[in-house]
Amino acid sequence: MEKNISGSTIKKNVSNLLESLPGGTVLIAATKTRTHDEIEAAIAGGVAIIGENYVQEAEAKFAVLKDKVSFHLVGHLQKNKVKKAVKIFDMIQTLDSKELAVFLARECEKIHKVMPVLIEINSAGESQKSGIDIGRAEELVREVMKHPSLSLEGLMTMGPASSDDEAVRSAFCATKGLFDRIGSTYPQLSNWQYLSMGMSDSYTTALSCGANMVRIGTLLFGPRRMR
Ligand SMILES: *Cc1c(COP(=O)(O)O)cnc(C)c1O
Repeated sequence: MEKNISGSTIKKNVSNLLESLPGGTVLIAATKTRTHDEIEAAIAGGVAIIGENYVQEAEAKFAVLKDKVSFHLVGHLQKNKVKKAVKIFDMIQTLDSKELAVFLARECEKIHKVMPVLIEINSAGESQKSGIDIGRAEELVREVMKHPSLSLEGLMTMGPASSDDEAVRSAFCATKGLFDRIGSTYPQLSNWQYLSMGMSDSYTTALSCGANMVRIGTLLFGPRRMR
């Protein structure tokens, strides 16, 4: 069993990290498995957005924390969870198929919501299942653009699970290249602005490749407990 780190340590970790990030970088606190108290401590340190992986887990946190923090979905979205997800989340970072775009757009229309979305890129190639391949991303961009209830605002990627810094860098920098290409090819994407990449062990590499949104869990809260 890991020892929980205290609320005051979490708060200090958050403010230290916020101070060290380049200006304009958006911090997403990755809060899967974390308790309401741990998240409250992070909010006290300056966290304004949390990233959740599972709709059901987010739902419980939303009931308690909805007035204190924004919610981003950073885990894979299943079609049967879309209806719930559109009520909870302020951004879906993991849009990765045309089919999901259509589903998501329809549920957003029903509740008269325009949902900010990021397209998730599978920048690591075959080793990872979530995200769309770089070569197919533009096709998905054009689909998302057809839906007024979706606001396409950028890209998200996990990168390779590998600890090989060169592999991680090459995946992140390739995603940055795609981010720039899409931004210049489709100037009508007026909210195109976020490049979400980098976690606790890779965010400095991600920032050096041009990330402006980082998703950090362990560095703020300590090692995760088993689910
Ligand atoms: C858990 C998670 C993170 C943060 O990971 P850490 O290594 O704990 O910083 C970032 N992004 C996603 C999608 C995650 O699931």
